[in-house]
Amino acid sequence: MAAAAGAISLGFPVIADTEVPEIPASRFCLHEALVPEPKHDRIVERVIEVRPITIKLKEIPLPVPYSGAFEGERVRKENMRVQFGGKYSRAFELLVAAPADRIRDGKVELIGDDIDRVPDGGSLPLGILIEAAGRKMAKDFEPILERQVHSFINWAMGVMHMGQRDMIWVRIGREAFEKGFRLRHLGEIIAARLHNDFGAIVNKVQVTIFTDADEVASRIGEAEKIYRERDLRVAGMTDESVDEFYSCTLCQSFAPSHVCIISPERLGLCGAYNWLDGKAAHEISPAGANQPVPKTGLVDPALGQWRGINEFVFESSHRALSKLNLYSIMRDPMTSCGCFEAIVAIVPEANGVMVVSREYPGQTPLGMDFITMAGMVGGGVQTPGFMGIGRLYVTSPKFISAEGGIKRLVWVSGDLKRALKDRIEERARKVGEADLFDKIADEETAVDSAGLLEFLQKADHPALKMDPLL
Ligand code: SF4
Repeated sequence: MAAAAGAISLGFPVIADTEVPEIPASRFCLHEALVPEPKHDRIVERVIEVRPITIKLKEIPLPVPYSGAFEGERVRKENMRVQFGGKYSRAFELLVAAPADRIRDGKVELIGDDIDRVPDGGSLPLGILIEAAGRKMAKDFEPILERQVHSFINWAMGVMHMGQRDMIWVRIGREAFEKGFRLRHLGEIIAARLHNDFGAIVNKVQVTIFTDADEVASRIGEAEKIYRERDLRVAGMTDESVDEFYSCTLCQSFAPSHVCIISPERLGLCGAYNWLDGKAAHEISPAGANQPVPKTGLVDPALGQWRGINEFVFESSHRALSKLNLYSIMRDPMTSCGCFEAIVAIVPEANGVMVVSREYPGQTPLGMDFITMAGMVGGGVQTPGFMGIGRLYVTSPKFISAEGGIKRLVWVSGDLKRALKDRIEERARKVGEADLFDKIADEETAVDSAGLLEFLQKADHPALKMDPLL
């Protein structure tokens, strides 16, 4: 105790392997001054928690090169050893804050088969559960750290990651596999990068990787509940209630001129970042991909155009875009990268718009499926008449409000229509179209424009009486 007292008075916290009384933070020590930890195999972790120590790995021990140069690299089908998610299997990633004493720093566990048990070119379900702890770790930071997984994994040569939440698509190339890349390396990359890049808030990281189909199926439900809770946090906020929006340029590795402008009523088009996330991300990393964008110099309130935002977008799109209308699909709309949850597109014959989700594999009244449209819309260019969006934007009061908003909605792919039913009905009531939901077609009603038009005329859809879109 005398030795401990001497160390404490010099400002060193003391971890003792004997039964001593715990001494809390004092004028000598910022954190606990004296902490008992009788288990020797826990003592290092306890030290990390108490200090709290920031761990940085100079080099991540991987069998493949790891650098930002590989971030935009694609793993093509002919070079692929195994894939997860997309339309091939169920997959998700989730990062949650955890109590420090519940997780073991650096632990990476695989529950299910590794990739060497899968035939060449095959697929597996995938769940990546990341538990992070730290004195400054907060629930609000979960989505921000989770969204970094995209670039963390993409830095590995021969490994491709797309999407977010329960819409991820991961491919591991044959060459990476032959060099020894296995699933535990995904966890090791994530843990190392969280320590290196977010050491100020994260002190301990544990990663569990699931490939067992039953485990993935049950855990994906829990993950979706958490995603929904996150989405609800901005409910009630309006664009008018804030002085600044937030940018996101995380996807510039795939679409160099793409800039998401995230407002309280328009979430990022991946669906994983809302305005509060942009704000929290900026607090964590002031020079990072999420910057406050001042709403100065209002040019047109109906279109959602501000001079301050135009100037910001001009610079951060590397001078590719000079004008952005946040609330319009027809005039200088927002660009799209590649990870949008859904696409909204005009259907000129119906004087309205349709929304097709990433999960919907079939044809649409435009004569194109999601993949064909995604090829036209993505890449960071403005495509008037087409836009990648986050699903929840459909029921925002600012959803293409310059063109009349939700009343323009004439066709929505069935999966998305069912998922958004309550929200669409609520929004429709607010705009005086209480029965709008039943007037919106889906693939059961029509997948060609003639059939769609016939349905809309019978249903007396409001879009048919609105000002011409073109
Ligand atoms: S889609 Fe937009 S909000 Fe989402 S990560 Fe990419 S740039 Fe950020």
